[in-house]
Amino acid sequence: MPMPMPNNPRYPPAADAFGRPLRSLRLSVTDRCNLRCKYCMPEENYVWLPREDVLTLEEMATLTGYFTDLGVDRVRLTGGEPLLRRDLARLIRLLVQNRQITDIALTTNGILLADHAEALFEAGLHRVTISLDTLRPERFRQLTRRDEYARVMEGIASVARAGFTGLKLDTVAIRGFNDDELVALIEFGKQVQAEVRFIEYMDVGGANEWSQQKVLSREAMLTILSERYGTIEPMGERGAAPAQRFVLSGGTTFGIIPSTTTPFCATCDRSRVTADGMWYRCLYATQGTNLRTALRAGASADAMRGVIRAGWEGRRDRGAEERKALEQDGLRVGGLIGIEKLREDPHLEMHARGG
Ligand code: SAM
Repeated sequence: MPMPMPNNPRYPPAADAFGRPLRSLRLSVTDRCNLRCKYCMPEENYVWLPREDVLTLEEMATLTGYFTDLGVDRVRLTGGEPLLRRDLARLIRLLVQNRQITDIALTTNGILLADHAEALFEAGLHRVTISLDTLRPERFRQLTRRDEYARVMEGIASVARAGFTGLKLDTVAIRGFNDDELVALIEFGKQVQAEVRFIEYMDVGGANEWSQQKVLSREAMLTILSERYGTIEPMGERGAAPAQRFVLSGGTTFGIIPSTTTPFCATCDRSRVTADGMWYRCLYATQGTNLRTALRAGASADAMRGVIRAGWEGRRDRGAEERKALEQDGLRVGGLIGIEKLREDPHLEMHARGG
């Protein structure tokens, strides 16, 4: 893959063992969440990251700086539920000072957004993505085990009021759960000036109730949508973006993130840092690099960049493709990661490493 032009490079940009650049960083600011979605955090209680290990906002900004020195130019704040992290706007103000970052985005469930949207906008946050799987309050409650639908709707309404444009709504499409709401979600997106992105249900941890039968594939989604909208045209190349975008005849656009049936490992330029500073080079990786200990021990900037560069240059992960191959060969046994292992190491949970 050709290396993209680095964004104001201070150091030669890092490329992994397959030539994939280091561009996109997902920063999980907390492992805590105020929902208990069945597909992500189905249990009431978890082994939480020790509080003293959780990075301060300053530590997160400093760590991000080492990544941007090596090529990262897009940062997404996620979790857990990122708005549970006190003073998130201050982290954004710190990140905005880093001129190498061209895009700072937030993925949230929207519950607390109405209280914070204005401050986040003023702090310099560029974009907001809200997760929304259903437009039916009762379904929402069943899926999330919390009665917060109304607050999510308020959160969605607050985004444009605060001044943001380019809102995205992310929907995990699950067969037998919300496959009858795809059209309603697109229509809702039009009303609130948001682009809807349907995510194929992923097998992200032992504790979620994933099964191949529940995956609504990209093709199945397109079939459902074309019954209502007629011809659907793909829009350009996907590049390193996870979503494939499509346009309906009336001009409405939407995206599909076909992570399960059509993994994008070949162009994946993302990595993830957990709230306690563990760095994972793949959503499916079981081994990460502890950056917190070195950071807190006062490692020099050069040493930190050296660790990150070496970690990225050794990256050979193609987690989603490997999952798919196992599935196709009928070799996938049980959940992705067993529940006991998840209890031993909370980093392996999706909510710790950031979705
Ligand atoms: N709490 C925030 C939120 O709800 O957007 C951020 C964290 S959440 C883990 C990030 C995204 O991961 C959400 O859009 C969620 O729907 C998605 N996600 C979680 N588990 C998933 C799964 N099994 N398959 C596909 N997407 C999943």
